[in-house]
Amino acid sequence: MNAFPPVGAHLIAGDWVTEGAAGTSLSLNPAHPDEPVGDYPIGDAGTASDAVGAAVEARPSWRSLPFGARARILEQAARLFDERADDLALLCTLEEGKTLAESHGEATLAAETFRYQAAIAKMSSERIFPNNVPGETIRTVRVPLGVVGVITPWNFPLLIPVWKLAPALAAGNTVVWKPASDTPLLSVAIARLLVDAGLPDGVLNLVLGPGSMGGAMVADERVDGVTFTGSVPVGQRIRDVVTARNGRVQLELGGHNPCIVFDDADLDLAVAGAVGGAMGATGQKCTATRRVIAVGNVHDELLEQMAAAVEVLQVGDGREDGTEIGPLVSAGARTEVAEAVDVALAEGAEAIVVNSTAPDGPCYYAPTLFSGTPDLTICRDEVFGPVSTVVRADSEDEAFALANDTEFGLSASIFTNDLWRIDRAVHELEAGLIKVNAPTTGSEIHAPFGGEKNSSGHAAREQGDTALDFFTRTRTAYIRPGTRR
Ligand code: NAD
Repeated sequence: MNAFPPVGAHLIAGDWVTEGAAGTSLSLNPAHPDEPVGDYPIGDAGTASDAVGAAVEARPSWRSLPFGARARILEQAARLFDERADDLALLCTLEEGKTLAESHGEATLAAETFRYQAAIAKMSSERIFPNNVPGETIRTVRVPLGVVGVITPWNFPLLIPVWKLAPALAAGNTVVWKPASDTPLLSVAIARLLVDAGLPDGVLNLVLGPGSMGGAMVADERVDGVTFTGSVPVGQRIRDVVTARNGRVQLELGGHNPCIVFDDADLDLAVAGAVGGAMGATGQKCTATRRVIAVGNVHDELLEQMAAAVEVLQVGDGREDGTEIGPLVSAGARTEVAEAVDVALAEGAEAIVVNSTAPDGPCYYAPTLFSGTPDLTICRDEVFGPVSTVVRADSEDEAFALANDTEFGLSASIFTNDLWRIDRAVHELEAGLIKVNAPTTGSEIHAPFGGEKNSSGHAAREQGDTALDFFTRTRTAYIRPGTRR
């Protein structure tokens, strides 16, 4: 990276714009909010409009570039993600708070995603069909969607943007990207990397600022499609705006992911999976384990062992050796978690263990394990923090019913060695990701990712080769030879 941290700036039509139409703001380190990471400009609706204009302008030349040339730029981006992994990981930890190991994991998978999507771009996705008319060929081609709006959250500030940017660019689209306000400088570093990899001016445009600026971008008729990851209410608003103007929209939203543990499970594996799934990345994963459903006799021992594991987690600054759980992303996020815990206690949840290693600071929250009943608010609403609840089920049927009793359907896991049960889980758990003897969290970049119910929209899955489906339009061509002269 040329400078660390990079200078906060929008990227519009190849120019780095440091002036903010709506002023400037500070990016804070949640481990030490009194030590700002840097400042950045705040854009407004006009900034978003300029960026969309740049993307419209760059569209014809980018889409007509041979796919091999586009793929070479993506491959170079992958190399740069590997080369700059240390700096990117440090910046991710400074702005988001997660541990350096977690941030490194994102940088590695970002490189992998660019490499994979570059390879996909080189594979033919055309099809030829038989035809009843002699001599006529039916052929489908994929054309880029056009100008794509990318809106991303702060919790995976390196990887989630890349899940979207890599396939969007590989397919020949131009992009306007609005990242979350908590992680602006990391977004600048990613955009800078892509420019260094050879992206022509205007192909990727980055605008920094509040949600309202994203709102202006999604309402812009020149934006052909919007891919969004974030909270349910914002996603639903974006869906309504984009579909009302007949644009295409992809949504990845919240979750309330269950983990069912049966008495035939490997208990060590189940404890590690349930605790890691709940507390990893300070519980700020859309796929985090929010409810652990202990079936029958396993309940007491599971609760006891989970409590012991939560108690010894080391909370601290994500940059320090030995830290397993960093701070929450902001003081505001901490307030939301604390309020949800107060409600849980008032409703009768029992706090089995509250970790005591968290340092003082406005963004730290002690990992907490509850024992409770499924009707608690904390067992229904997504609480984005290191908090999980163990509930009891008396039978397999009850466990499956409890797991599905949620408006969400992102991920679900089951710990058992019973093959019949596993097969039942794969077919009956209402979630886009089913994990067997593994935590609800974690996914591979070459397999489709997405949820059901209120966790996702209805567009194509992200990641894997299905990612291309959202970012392209299919055209069917009927090609008949004319009369020979
Ligand atoms: P958020 O919805 O508050 O913000 C997400 C993005 O939308 C940010 O860039 C924000 O600035 C922007 N935004 C806000 N209002 C907007 C508007 N009116 N129009 C356009 N854009 C707007 O979410 P967050 O707090 O950043 O992220 C946490 C949420 O994201 C959690 O609910 C989590 O479950 C979810 N999430 C889901 C997945 C998934 O793959 N399903 C992955 C990660 C996070």
